[in-house]
Amino acid sequence: MIYYKTDEEIELIRKSSLLVGKTLAEVARHIKPGVTTLELDKIAETFIRDHKAVPGFKGYGGFPGTLCVSVNDVVVHGIPGKQVLKDGDLVSVDCGAILNGFYGDSAYSFAVGQVNEEVKLLMERTKQSLYLGIDSAKAGKRIGDIGFGIQTYVESFGYSVVRDLVGHGLGRNLHEKPEVPNYGKRGVGTMLQPGLVICIEPMINLGRKQIKQDKDGWTIRTSDGMPSAHFEHAIAINEGKTDILSSFEEIEKVLESIK
Ligand code: MG
Ligand code: MG
Repeated sequence: MIYYKTDEEIELIRKSSLLVGKTLAEVARHIKPGVTTLELDKIAETFIRDHKAVPGFKGYGGFPGTLCVSVNDVVVHGIPGKQVLKDGDLVSVDCGAILNGFYGDSAYSFAVGQVNEEVKLLMERTKQSLYLGIDSAKAGKRIGDIGFGIQTYVESFGYSVVRDLVGHGLGRNLHEKPEVPNYGKRGVGTMLQPGLVICIEPMINLGRKQIKQDKDGWTIRTSDGMPSAHFEHAIAINEGKTDILSSFEEIEKVLESIK
């Protein structure tokens, strides 16, 4: 079943999601060649706990990290570890936090040093596809409209949409109903109604859509070894304009300042 949220609950999810945005901004300050993915994870965990919240991913289904740190051909669910980031890497960082009993969840893809033009465009267009998905997420529309908006845009560049992993409802649980695919048909699926809080999170591959999982049981990679980007916002459907609960503002301030 779908849990529709009250205005008060939506405000709590906003607080959790904004904390995630601030955490990703803190991580962004430290993304550079030479840093390990585990170092980034520690920075995020400390930041979340300093803000009287709890890492949302740590221990979730047995996941060991505060962050999912996914480099280059890793789509999502990369486990923080000894991997050293190097110039030209694309690193997708996904973060969750629990504050006042509600989850926040958001993700951003970063360039380490200078990435090549192809990767830069993949990142920009994946982010743009997220906002197109959000534009399609209005009361009275359906889940399929969101995926249609994302898929149509990214496929026009020859990219592909990962099928096996999708967005989700968000609230007292990290993953609630409904599923929110990043592909789909107009006018199909669950009707979007006020009080619905969902995460839209396009995972877009430069090459083919197929993915595979490492033996660690988590790491998801593209089967063709080509890079993949990932951006995620939590949003609330209401009567008027759709409300983006998470924010990239703090992240992008940091990125501007270190340019
Ligand atoms: Mg996420
Ligand atoms: Mg999510």
